[in-house]
Amino acid sequence: TSFGYKTVPEESKESLVKNVFDSVASSYDLMNDASSLGVHRLWKDTFVSGLKPGRKGAVRCIDVAGGTGDIALRILDHARENYADRESSVEVVDINAQMLKEGFRRFKKTMYHNTPQISFHEANAQALPEAQFTDNTYDLYTIAFGIRNCTSIPAVLKEAHRVLKPGGTFACLEFSKVNNPLLSSLYDQYSFSMIPLLGTILAGDRDSYQYLVESIRKFPSQPDFCKMIQEAGFATGEEHDGGAWTDLWGGIACVHKGVKV
Ligand code: SAM
Repeated sequence: TSFGYKTVPEESKESLVKNVFDSVASSYDLMNDASSLGVHRLWKDTFVSGLKPGRKGAVRCIDVAGGTGDIALRILDHARENYADRESSVEVVDINAQMLKEGFRRFKKTMYHNTPQISFHEANAQALPEAQFTDNTYDLYTIAFGIRNCTSIPAVLKEAHRVLKPGGTFACLEFSKVNNPLLSSLYDQYSFSMIPLLGTILAGDRDSYQYLVESIRKFPSQPDFCKMIQEAGFATGEEHDGGAWTDLWGGIACVHKGVKV
């Protein structure tokens, strides 16, 4: 498939995104490592350990746009390794069955396979089926490198707010805006040329990776995204250590959190 991201109408974005991830599913983990030089692992570690899942007892989590289960695995490992918690659970939700399949295959090699701690569900983050994902159910909602691919960010946030328990935490890890002009220009050069090139070499798929780079550019800045989280009914700010959001690597990535009020 060949497409110019900027000319894609919003309504077809979902099927486009589905195709992108269909085409990258099997090479996704490899590409992630290659394009971020392994740094996405560190960011994911920071993201999950900052949430301290299991610290206050078992938590019921939903990891949306969970893909191959990187965040889910870290949540369960963190809870078990730090708090001997084998009761916490994660429901991985993704719009793309191929990504979920890779995740399922990967969890087969872990101790969580065939336990109530992990499950995989195909669904759209913007419209989680209400019968399956009921109101006021989860203690923790995570979404990592997924929300920028969704057509409507407010729709995703509204659903996150609906399924979380009052007092539950929304946590998002996403590429964001680099604040330092020098770093920003280096990063632009790297991502616009290197990532599509790596996509070609490692995955034989330049267009999909080109799309992923461009979707990062269109994502709202840290304060704008924070405002959207607040508008969805979450409290942000004082209750978190680093303020309303925490930049990673000068804003290449960023963690936003909110508490359902
Ligand atoms: N969270 C995983 C990680 O950090 O490794 C996967 C991130 S991957 C870049 C983005 C994921 O978002 C893909 O698996 C894709 O299928 C999923 N996705 C895109 N749009 C979605 C939507 N509307 N609802 C649910 N998942 C979606």
